[in-house]
Amino acid sequence: MPTGTDLPVAQRAVFEGFQHSWLVPLFYVLATVALIIFFYGVYRRVGRYRAGKRATLVRGWPRRIARSLMEVLTSRRIGRRDRYTGVAHAFIFWAFGFLFLGTTTIFLDHDVLGLVAPSLEFWKGAFFLGFSVVMDVSAALFIIGLVMMAVRRAFFSTFRLSYRRVDGKQQDRSAYEREDWWFLGQLLLIGVTGLLLEAFRLIHDHPWFQGYSPVGLAVAKGFEALGMTAPSAGEAHFVTWWVHAFLALTFIAYIPYAKSVHMLASWANAAARDEKAAVVLPTQETGAQTIPLTPIAANLTWKQLLAVDACTKCGRCHEVCPARTSGAPLSPRDLVLDLREFLGGRRGTAAAAQGTLSAAATALRDDGSPLISADVLWSCTTCRACIEVCPVGIEHVPLIVGMRQTLVEEGEMDQNLAQALMNLGRKGNSFGQSERARAKWAEQAGVPIKDARTEHCEYLWFVGDFASYDPRAQRVSQSVARVLHHLGVDFGILFESERNAGNDARRIGEEGLFESLAEKNMKALSQASFDRIFTTDPHSYNTLKNEYPAYGLECEVLHYTQLLQRLAAEGKMQIVAPQDITVTYHDPCYLGRYNRVFDAPRELIRLTGATLLEMPRNREESFCCGAGGGRIFTGDSLYGEKPAESRIREAAGLHGIESFVVACPKDMAMYTDAAKTAGYEQQIAVEDVIFLIERALGIGAKTPEEVNA
Ligand code: SF4
Ligand code: SF4
Repeated sequence: MPTGTDLPVAQRAVFEGFQHSWLVPLFYVLATVALIIFFYGVYRRVGRYRAGKRATLVRGWPRRIARSLMEVLTSRRIGRRDRYTGVAHAFIFWAFGFLFLGTTTIFLDHDVLGLVAPSLEFWKGAFFLGFSVVMDVSAALFIIGLVMMAVRRAFFSTFRLSYRRVDGKQQDRSAYEREDWWFLGQLLLIGVTGLLLEAFRLIHDHPWFQGYSPVGLAVAKGFEALGMTAPSAGEAHFVTWWVHAFLALTFIAYIPYAKSVHMLASWANAAARDEKAAVVLPTQETGAQTIPLTPIAANLTWKQLLAVDACTKCGRCHEVCPARTSGAPLSPRDLVLDLREFLGGRRGTAAAAQGTLSAAATALRDDGSPLISADVLWSCTTCRACIEVCPVGIEHVPLIVGMRQTLVEEGEMDQNLAQALMNLGRKGNSFGQSERARAKWAEQAGVPIKDARTEHCEYLWFVGDFASYDPRAQRVSQSVARVLHHLGVDFGILFESERNAGNDARRIGEEGLFESLAEKNMKALSQASFDRIFTTDPHSYNTLKNEYPAYGLECEVLHYTQLLQRLAAEGKMQIVAPQDITVTYHDPCYLGRYNRVFDAPRELIRLTGATLLEMPRNREESFCCGAGGGRIFTGDSLYGEKPAESRIREAAGLHGIESFVVACPKDMAMYTDAAKTAGYEQQIAVEDVIFLIERALGIGAKTPEEVNA
């Protein structure tokens, strides 16, 4: 073996051991065929997306691509809540990336520069040695990541990886499991054969630089210990080379046609992801292309068609969905998979992908039931937990609301829900009560409240339906009025001119009603005199802040906890009676996950002197009370244990909890009921943040018991 400065330049032959001249062209023919099949598949997929409806993207592509690149490169969204999967995916992703780059480098050096400018070839010497180390370590990490995934799937098969349907429909889903294993197995075989190739090459050539392939060398030593010789390693290398090439080319060709399509679609979908998905719902367009989904129709945008392909079947949305957790027939994952099967022609005919009515007529399950039933769609609380948790940025809520619009048009809904919509249309409130009764609560507040229609005020308080009409929430409103009065805030309300903000109507799928409510409120607001708006209701807050700007609202909109946080920061809140109690706080979906208001209520609670203990599911991971998206108006027949009861039990699991603190009038109603029905009424008081503040300021009841009396 040469030593020192006699060492030959480090490099290796590309088609080493190819003794027949026709083998190299054969490989290039196979590679070309694989690429043609790949690009044809991509072309077909893109064609299908292009047939979808237009989708409005708020931000430009450069920013989106940069964001999704960061998410993919760091595995940030995948590793959230599941570090094991995040680490395994990062190994696979990074290693795959380096191995792919390595193959591209060899192609560039050998097939491009080797033909047109041999003097520029660079795959040798120091570059080659560094390249060898990176490829070798990447191959090892690739295999480790895949084995981690396989172990998890085989031995720690969590609930979310189970394909058992929750809607009671019988469906053989073993094909999904086979597809998952085939995907993992194929990648693993590619990784293992790649490493074996390296080992056989080292046994055959024994190059002086073999230490630059440490993992390959370790494997080679193992084979040598088993008796492998240089000639037999040469033969094994030749066979393994072709097996590896065949597997890799088959994989490439197959990418657009199977689970592996997520390697392209999930990245594209993450780039197209709308950070305000569900926060601002798209307006319903008339005359748009309709893709019928028996018995419901949905107008799918290109983005939604892409999302259906991007789903990796990870089951995270399935795991966190409060509807699914509570025994309802909805699983956001299954909804996406059902749409995928339909659009892919597996349910119904291939023509289903083009959205013809005749194809839709065949889009039934094997047992003849509808593809996606109305119960599935009405189970959704629009809590946005699925969107929050989805690693590839699928936006389930706009999809569900889009399909609900058809149910509403066809009148296929719960009677209570229909009544609530009728009340909203006729009276402007879901309670069906007189408009004049809207501000009755103010008479018992004990402090004067300005009429913003006739007097200027700094803050216009948009009270909302529940805070105006529900007796439990009215006490919250009265308390807010007293606290603001005590702090010298200049505020007023719209009295009977206020209408429901329309957040629920829109999420139920009654777009026309939402528009009518928004227009009436905008008219009332335009006739009032104020500087800013605040509201106690997170649902109204979401719509006023995010959806009313499209109707001309330009002023700042605050939740009342944000307003009080500001006043506290200005030193205006003097705590005279610190609250020596232990509480937990529930993040309302529309305040927390929807609008990222997590800190203001917590700061206020701490300001009162109370000790705050967090429930296991808090902030972004908060669990829904079950009231959103119009579900507060429907019966509970679709649910087993109510989400609010499950949440109260979660709170009861914390040591020494005296109060369950909320910041939403609907939560006040939901959890007061849930504490009773779950048997915790004597143990835990349900109270709004404002009750704590009122007591701490020394202007209200003295204890939670008095508050709840
Ligand atoms: S929004 Fe909430 S209830 Fe609806 S599908 Fe998603 S997780 Fe389930
Ligand atoms: S929709 Fe998203 S979270 Fe749900 S299974 Fe698919 S990839 Fe996972």
